[in-house]
Amino acid sequence: MLWSAPKQLKLLMSHQLNSRQGPSTIRTQLRQTSVVVARPARGEARFALACGHCGREGVFVVQDLDTTNQLRRVPIIRSVLLALVFLALPVSFAIIGFGGGDILFQVLTIPAGLIFGPFGLALLIAPTGKIGVEVPEPMFYESNTSRQGFTYVTRNKHAGQGLSCVGRVEVVK
Ligand SMILES: [Zn+2]
Repeated sequence: MLWSAPKQLKLLMSHQLNSRQGPSTIRTQLRQTSVVVARPARGEARFALACGHCGREGVFVVQDLDTTNQLRRVPIIRSVLLALVFLALPVSFAIIGFGGGDILFQVLTIPAGLIFGPFGLALLIAPTGKIGVEVPEPMFYESNTSRQGFTYVTRNKHAGQGLSCVGRVEVVK
C-alpha cells in the first residue's frame, strides 16, 4: 500500500444493506460509518466504532509508529527483492537478446515482460499493506438486521443472502 507507515487512519464499519444480483453485475449498497484517528505515541490504542446500521461495536487495535515500522520491515524487504527479481527477468532476457539478435530471446522477452513486469511494478509501488491495525472480525447476517434498543431486528429474510458487516481501515492522505 505505502512506503511509509501512515500516521492518520480512517477506521470504517461497512455494512452491506442489500445485494442484488443482475445478469452480469452485483449491486451492493453499503452503510459506512467512519472515524479518523491518530496513532498512539507509544504502545497500542483501542478504538471502538459502532456500525451506523446494525449497531455492532467493532474494536480496532492501532499500534504506535515504531511497532508498525517494525512490523513492516520484513514484508518491505521481501517485496522489494521480489520486485527486483520480477523486473530483472525480462530485462536480462532483453540484454542477452539484443547482444545476439536471436529471435528466441525476443520471443522470451515480450511474454516475460508482460507477465513479470506488472507484478514487479505493483510490488515497487506498494511494498506492503501492513499498517499496524487490527480490524474487528467480520460479521455475516442472513438478512437485513439492525439493532433497535437492546434487540436485533431482522427484516426481509431471504435465505442465503449473506449480508456482511466488516471493519476496514483506510489511509488518510
Ligand atoms: Zn453493521
